Amino acid sequence: MSEQPYGYRRRELVEPDWRRLPGFAGATAQEWADPQWQRVNCVKNLRQLRGVYGDLLSESFYADVERDQQERATMSLLLPPQMLNTMVPGEVPTTEGMLADPVRRYMLPVFTDRATDWPSHPHSSRDSLHEAEMWAVEGLTHRYPTKVLAELLPTCPQYCGHCTRMDLVGNSTPQVTKHKFELKPVSRLDAMIDYLRRTPGVRDVVVSGGDVGNMPFKNLESFVARLLEIDTVRDIRLATKALMGLPQHWLADDVVEGMGRLATTARSQGVSLAIHTHVNAAQSVTPAVARASRAMLDAGVRDVRNQGVLLRGVNTTTEQLLDLCFALQDEAGILPYYFYLCDMIPNAEHWRIPVSRAQELQHSIMGYLPGFATPRIVCDVPYVGKRWVHQLEEYDRERGISYWTKNYRTGIEMTDPDALSRRYEYYDPIQSLPESGQAWWREHAGTEVESAMVRANGAARASQQAAAALVGS
Ligand code: SF4
Repeated sequence: MSEQPYGYRRRELVEPDWRRLPGFAGATAQEWADPQWQRVNCVKNLRQLRGVYGDLLSESFYADVERDQQERATMSLLLPPQMLNTMVPGEVPTTEGMLADPVRRYMLPVFTDRATDWPSHPHSSRDSLHEAEMWAVEGLTHRYPTKVLAELLPTCPQYCGHCTRMDLVGNSTPQVTKHKFELKPVSRLDAMIDYLRRTPGVRDVVVSGGDVGNMPFKNLESFVARLLEIDTVRDIRLATKALMGLPQHWLADDVVEGMGRLATTARSQGVSLAIHTHVNAAQSVTPAVARASRAMLDAGVRDVRNQGVLLRGVNTTTEQLLDLCFALQDEAGILPYYFYLCDMIPNAEHWRIPVSRAQELQHSIMGYLPGFATPRIVCDVPYVGKRWVHQLEEYDRERGISYWTKNYRTGIEMTDPDALSRRYEYYDPIQSLPESGQAWWREHAGTEVESAMVRANGAARASQQAAAALVGS
């Protein structure tokens, strides 16, 4: 009898022993469980990284991290002990083990991981999803007809190397000077609430950042409580990778109690309050993460859902994806909801996979999980939004260009007559293309970027017209 392509077996979660890391060898269980201890002991620079690993890692590894920070990184280092402890979880880390580790690959990038021929796609850009262009008020992206994204703050308890919001989130790196919000936090949040009160067509608010796990809880509770007073808001989703990166935050008494108050109000009003987290590798799902998720469900949130990102070397095999989905679904009560293709930000080509590979992955994971827990693999197409990877209109596999359409206008296209008939492009990583396609890009990269700038200027003009129309209305 032939075996199934994927062999399911239930795997017990394990919290790796942090005492195997020299820098945390003396940490007590009480300290480890303390969110403040976790925050104070985060690794933010090379000196602190050495302090954790010491001689376990070679000088070449530290030099590799340092060169990456200097020459490629779009995000600065920020790694809570909890997250570091999930790298090379079962053994004392070695340089080889760290280089091969899936969590290390995206949370602690090294220069030698990055692609050399095309570190960035010619069409890559900061704010590759053009969220700031679609701000209805500062930090409130109105891209879909009935949904908004509220970026409450520009920081997180951990920084991911591939962050889509690298334009805004985190500290500047030698390569990227971050944009700053101009309004004061209180005024910005007031402006968001004001916009939602006068825009009853919006029923769904993604409360994000950054990561809401970095917001003083009383401020988050106050903002969500104000959302709950708007009777047209029916779905509220709190976005926090910290549920995995710093589960101690979501297990703190004040946070659990406060979430209980919000969930009770939400339920009494028939509003769905959920948590969306961001886990990319099965080994990140530890007992502490499962406890944090259960604590939120027990507090009364409707769901805890995962939105992962497909990253080469991290989770782009069938086995890696299904292992992760089963760890989430079976052991932590987290619904495997979406996996996104990595966005076209600078220096991300070594992480990205082509749409064709994403389609294969979607096919390969069907039928193993319950239907409601089978994640959709989606491409976030610039100026369009999320599309299931099989929804493309046309696909030039030689040049790696997929063409997509949409069925609604984003906030900047209300006066654009062609928005619904136009085709929008997404680009596969060039090193994944056949040699003829790579040769085409070597020849045309310059003119392609120029024409993209013309298109971007056209979109900016549409944005200005839309803004003018709003002012006039
Ligand atoms: S947690 Fe989210 S917003 Fe924060 S760095 Fe990671 S991907 Fe970016």
